[in-house]
Amino acid sequence: MASSSGNVNVVGGGIAGLIAAIELVRAGAKVTLFESAADLGGRARTKYADGFMLNQGPHALYITGAFKRELDRLGIPYSGLKTTPLEPQGLYRGKLYRLPTSASSLMLSNLFSVGEKLAYAGVQKAVIDGATGKESFAVWLDGQDLSPLVRMAMESIARVSSYANGSSLTHAAAMLDQIRRGLKGVIYVDGGWAALVGELAKAAQEAGAVLKTGAAAERVAVEGLRSRVTLADGSEHLADATLLALGPKEAARLAPSVGSLGGYAEDAIPVRTNTLDLALEELPDGARQFALGIDQPFYFSVHSIAAKLAPEGGAVVHVAKYLPPDETPGHDAIAELEAVADLAMPGWRRFEKKRQELRGMAVTNAFVRADKPRPGVALLDAPGLFVAGDWVGDEGMLSDASAASAVEAAAHIAGMLERERSAA
Ligand SMILES: Cc1cc2nc3c(=O)[nH]c(=O)nc-3n(C[C@H](O)[C@H](O)[C@H](O)COP(=O)(O)OP(=O)(O)OC[C@H]3O[C@@H](n4cnc5c(N)ncnc54)[C@H](O)[C@@H]3O)c2cc1C
Repeated sequence: MASSSGNVNVVGGGIAGLIAAIELVRAGAKVTLFESAADLGGRARTKYADGFMLNQGPHALYITGAFKRELDRLGIPYSGLKTTPLEPQGLYRGKLYRLPTSASSLMLSNLFSVGEKLAYAGVQKAVIDGATGKESFAVWLDGQDLSPLVRMAMESIARVSSYANGSSLTHAAAMLDQIRRGLKGVIYVDGGWAALVGELAKAAQEAGAVLKTGAAAERVAVEGLRSRVTLADGSEHLADATLLALGPKEAARLAPSVGSLGGYAEDAIPVRTNTLDLALEELPDGARQFALGIDQPFYFSVHSIAAKLAPEGGAVVHVAKYLPPDETPGHDAIAELEAVADLAMPGWRRFEKKRQELRGMAVTNAFVRADKPRPGVALLDAPGLFVAGDWVGDEGMLSDASAASAVEAAAHIAGMLERERSAA
């Protein structure tokens, strides 16, 4: 990255804002980051209670994803194991079946007929071999000519890899890449994702970034090539560049005069979920480690089996429902997650110590759509203003998109500052 001097405002202290702050400050810029909440981390925050660590819903670090790549490149320490649940289960018509995850478990699985096993193995091979498509994932699935059950199983794998429950909205190429990423494996992080946030914040501060929490931006004004952030307390912060590392709707609200942001906010359809995050004194006997809904969009996983998230003997379990884009959480949002927990780990209720319930939580700010590409980091109608987050750029989904766009935005900003310095 170009080395640069100059002042940069970063608005938003989640993964994207923190990674961009580290990159920029290491490149020589003077960085001030403004975070409205009392703590850094955004959706990667973790709730601590009685020695349990509850992420905001199930969080998994993709081994071949951009977030892990950037953590490693930036030298951010973390620990946690690749998850390999014993006997993963498929939840179909209210019953649990052995979920096929490999050729041998496919043969043992009681979910499919022999013909379906062959079809499932065939479509899995096509995905692993690099299948792609310009159309929506639903149209790509249509072209595979699958039985209803095998198609449901593929949709279920797509959901668990991406959180997105909207095949007709999602770009096939992006979804197929994400499934391949999921198949390479994930890590559940020791100490929860707040451990990653803490290390990112430490690295940013050690390099000289100023991180301000409880500092809500109210307005961002573009003044030629420069930009001015006004905070809720009335203070004004003029900089050579500003990075908006937050969602598209908030970005558009802060900078109403920037037309492109209004358009992105309108196009963005968030990927949402309901989650029930459980801290248990112990796991009941016979509890399953992992279950995935086949005909219903549910997820169940004991994260404390692969990561240090609970005190000795305790367990942290995440149950989730992947919401389709047109579904808002109903009054039974949590009851249906409890019912999944009843099926996967009968008897859990007597061990409950704490819980966190999230309804309609935005996992990602925007589906990766077949009909609308995600915006780039630079705003053509507002030079000096940049965006990063899980709705920006060409690479990856979820936190991988946040990390990749943050690095790209930082490189653009450093390059711009360097050009201005050379021209002066
Ligand atoms: C239930 C759930 C499960 C998930 N699971 C995974 C997973 O398994 N793997 C994965 O890779 N990703 C997962 N994600 C997604 C991941 O958490 C996000 O993509 C990532 O944390 C987004 O980071 P960000 O910095 O782009 O945005 P955010 O985390 O949203 O950060 C934006 C920040 O901006 C701040 N802000 C907003 N407005 C203002 C303002 N006016 N002034 C100042 N600050 C402001 C917010 O407080 C926030 O801290 C999951 C998310 C959820 C909710």
